[in-house]
Amino acid sequence: MTGRPAESVVHGSKASPQDLPSIDRLLGLPGVAALVAEHGHTLVAGESRALVQRLRAQALDGALDAGALDVEALEAEIRAAVERRLAPRLQRVLNLTGTVIHTNLGRALLADAALEQVLALMAGPNNLEYDLASGGRGDRDSVVEELLCTLTGAEAATVVNNNAAAVLLTIAALARGREVIVSRGELVEIGGAFRMPDVMAAAGAKLVEVGTTNRTHAHDYAGAIGARTALLMKVHTSNYAVQGFTSAVGEAELAAIAHARALPLASDLGAGSLIDLAAYGLPREPLPQEQLAAGCDIVTFSGDKLLGGPQAGLIVGSKAAVGRIRNYPLKRALRVSKLPLAALEATLMLYLRPERLAQDLPTLRLLTRPAAAIHELALRLQSALAAAVAPRFEVTVVELLGQIGSGSLPVERLPSAGLALAPLQKRGSGRALDALAGALRSLPLPVIGRISEDRLLLDLRCLEDAAPFVAQLPALQLALA
Ligand SMILES: *Cc1c(COP(=O)(O)O)cnc(C)c1O
Repeated sequence: MTGRPAESVVHGSKASPQDLPSIDRLLGLPGVAALVAEHGHTLVAGESRALVQRLRAQALDGALDAGALDVEALEAEIRAAVERRLAPRLQRVLNLTGTVIHTNLGRALLADAALEQVLALMAGPNNLEYDLASGGRGDRDSVVEELLCTLTGAEAATVVNNNAAAVLLTIAALARGREVIVSRGELVEIGGAFRMPDVMAAAGAKLVEVGTTNRTHAHDYAGAIGARTALLMKVHTSNYAVQGFTSAVGEAELAAIAHARALPLASDLGAGSLIDLAAYGLPREPLPQEQLAAGCDIVTFSGDKLLGGPQAGLIVGSKAAVGRIRNYPLKRALRVSKLPLAALEATLMLYLRPERLAQDLPTLRLLTRPAAAIHELALRLQSALAAAVAPRFEVTVVELLGQIGSGSLPVERLPSAGLALAPLQKRGSGRALDALAGALRSLPLPVIGRISEDRLLLDLRCLEDAAPFVAQLPALQLALA
C-alpha cells in the first residue's frame, strides 16, 4: 500500500477483490438497513449479493474504482437495484402511433364502466358459477349470454379466451376428424402466427380449399361437399383486400348451400363491430347480427378489437351449434377468466345505450374524434414541445393519416393531425431520430410515436389528456441535453 497513494490521488485507485464488503456488512449499513425494514430481508439481501458479484467481476478485471465501495455509493446502488426489481415490466404508455387499436400496445382501452366493474368485483368472491336464484351451480357463460343474444339476435352465445381460441374451438367441436371447406381467398394469416390452415390442422380438421385467390363461386363450394364434409367456413379478410377481378360468395348464399346438405356454416369475423360504423362516418365492417340473419350458424369475433372490451373470443349462433361448442372438452381449457368476463359484461352493457356509445366507449370515442380537434391540440402543444427538443429538432404541426388498427379495415385511413419532429442537421439525422425516439420511450410514461421520412411523428388522436405529456417535457429536454 505504501507505494500507491500518489497514484490514487492522480488517477483514482482501483479496488481489489479483498476490498469488497461482506453481505453482512452491507446489510448493516444504515441506508440498507432502512431498505430491509421496508421490503424485508429476502429481496434486499438478494440484491446485495448480486451487487457484490458484479463488483467482484469488475475488481478481477482491475476495473473497479475504489470510490464505488464508499458507503454512500453502495447504499445508492442497492437502493437503485431494489427499485429496478420492483418496477413493473408491464407499463402504461402513451400511444401516439396513430393506430387506435394497436395490438402491441394492448389493443382496446377499457371503458370507465368496465374498469369500475373489475375493481369492484375482483377483491372479493362473486357468483361467477353460482346461481343466486337456486343456490346451485351456475354457468359463467350466463353472465353475458343474454346480453350477447339481445345485441346480435343469436339464440345462444359462449365466450372463450380470445377469437383465435373461438375459431379453434368452433372447428374442433364441429369438424374434428372431418373436412372444412374454405375459399382460397380467405386463408388469412393474422399477426402472432394465427394462420387459418394451421388452426385447421391444430383443431384436427382437414382443410378443403376451394376457388382461387381472387375468385370463388357458389359451385366451388357445392362441388366440394362430400360425405366427409362437416363444416363450411367464411373468414373475414380483415387485414388485406383483394381488389380488381374478384368474386366471393356471400353468407346468405353460402348458408343456403350448407343447409341444403344439412351442414353448418361458421364465420370468423375478426374485429366484429356490433354497430354500423358508417353511421359515425367510419368505414363499414360486417356485423355479427347481419351474418346471423343471413343464416350463419356460428359467428366468432374478438372482444378487444372494435368491440372495445377486454381480450375475449365471442361465439354467437344457433342453440344447436353453440351447444356442441360449449360441451366440447377443449372449451374448459380455453375458458375466459372472471377478470375479463367482468369487463366484458360492463362493455356489452354500454351497447344497450347506443346514443351514448361514442362518449362511453373509448375505442369509438377515439375513432370518431374530429381531425379538427386533434389539429387544435397539436397547435396548443407545438411551442412547448419545440422548446423541449430545441435546438436539435424543429417541430411542425402536420396533417396525418392514422389507422383503426388490429387488422380491421386495412385500406382505410383516418384523417388525423399531430406533431412532426425533424432534425435540423441533415448529417446523422437517422441516428438523431433514433436517439429522440429512444428518449421518448425512456420517459416515466413512455411515448410511442413513429418514424417516417426523416421525421418522428406524434399522432395526437389518442392523446385525450395532454397534461401527462406536457408534464414530461422537462424530462425529455434533460434526456436530450
Ligand atoms: C384478429 C383476428 C383473429 C384472432 O383474434 P384474437 O382475438 O386476436 O385471438 C382471428 N381471425 C381474424 C379474421 C381476425 O381478424
